[in-house]
Amino acid sequence: MPATPRTPMATGAIVRNQFDAAADLAGLDEAQRRLLRGPFRSVSVDVPVRMDDGHIEVFRGYRVQHSGARGPCKGGIRYHLEADAGEVLGLATTMTWKTALADIPFGGAKGGVQVDPRKLSPRELEALTRVFTGRIALLLGPYRDIPAPDMGTNAQVMAWLLDEFSARNGYSPAVVTGKPISLGGSLGREEATAQGVVYVMQAFAADEGMTIKDSRVVVQGFGNVGAHAARILHEGGARVIAVSDVDGGLHNDKGLDIAKLFDHAYRQRRPVAEFAGGGDRITNEQLWRTPCDWLIPAALGGVISKHNVEQLDCKVVVEAANAPSTPIADKELETRGVPVLPDFLVNAGGVIVSYFEWVQNLQQHPWSLKQVNDELHEKITVAYRAVRDLRQRQQTTWRTAAYAIALARVAEAERLRGH
Ligand code: NAD
Repeated sequence: MPATPRTPMATGAIVRNQFDAAADLAGLDEAQRRLLRGPFRSVSVDVPVRMDDGHIEVFRGYRVQHSGARGPCKGGIRYHLEADAGEVLGLATTMTWKTALADIPFGGAKGGVQVDPRKLSPRELEALTRVFTGRIALLLGPYRDIPAPDMGTNAQVMAWLLDEFSARNGYSPAVVTGKPISLGGSLGREEATAQGVVYVMQAFAADEGMTIKDSRVVVQGFGNVGAHAARILHEGGARVIAVSDVDGGLHNDKGLDIAKLFDHAYRQRRPVAEFAGGGDRITNEQLWRTPCDWLIPAALGGVISKHNVEQLDCKVVVEAANAPSTPIADKELETRGVPVLPDFLVNAGGVIVSYFEWVQNLQQHPWSLKQVNDELHEKITVAYRAVRDLRQRQQTTWRTAAYAIALARVAEAERLRGH
């Protein structure tokens, strides 16, 4: 397996670093900054699980509610060995800015259990989910805090969470999003984040005289976000010339056969590099050097850093992953005049459609796929326009403008509540 070069900078550290410039632009005073830096509520729990061999293993779990000023807290639950308190707080904070920028009536939260879910049997995974849900259930509720899937969790895990919560509180589909469709999940949720990425790219392309059709696209990560983004862009006429996953990637300057690769790598969960339908094998390091119009990191945080930023040869960076650019790389790209469309704008499609799922559950009225996508397009394009306008007025970066809008909205809600 090709080596991942270095441990990427943690998302929590990147998020904390980005706060101050935007707080200056939004004109926040010291008390407001203090309020918005830390969590509203942070809970850590022991999660004891009887393993298949009979012994009890104790895992550490967290639920951090960063802000509920604009509505119930909202954010995923991650099962990952690095899901520690700092990381979960950083991710919860990003959710606050993401929901505020998208102007949906939620705050920000995140949860995590420090575990490698691939090492658990299905029974152990279900037991872990039920115990963790039971221990944080007091914090949750359709009008309190609404989890969703994140790294290491999926629709099945959300179904167990729904069942465990409903056993205590009565049938409560609106307590969690990203559920299976048959339990009240929304059409379009699976591909919502990628669809949102493409809507932002389309709006940017129209403003900047670029096109999606015939443009060259490079995508790191071929999971939910990367694979669907590559597929939708390919269907829109783009040439997706390089993609990778954790084991390496493929390059073809004429464009990869994304329809077949989607089936091979995403549906059948086989390594991208083992695809036999055309393309030269490349490493993840080579991927960054591939000349392209749109560079889409859609895997890990901290991957565009001082170690590779000099080698990037793209017209735009589209941050589909959370916190893919370190502050040093961000500064360097700004100096070089390469626009970086920021994560909490670009990948907001997932939480926007989660909001639609919550609305459908509360109204007990499912929407058509067309309605979901039309309303996603409207919401994310309005957010994009707000960022673009402020960026032009203030002559700042896309990221700082996006932060300033989000921070001002949250600070305003806190102020009106008397804080
Ligand atoms: P996923 O687990 O479905 O896919 C991740 C992909 O990244 C896989 O193809 C994996 O092989 C690849 N990958 C992992 N480590 C890598 C490495 N070291 N080098 C290259 N590739 C690597 O995850 P996802 O849901 O697609 O999420 C991807 C990113 O988007 C994450 O940063 C996530 O936080 C963010 N995000 C996801 C959503 C969503 O709705 N899924 C919403 C917002 C943000």
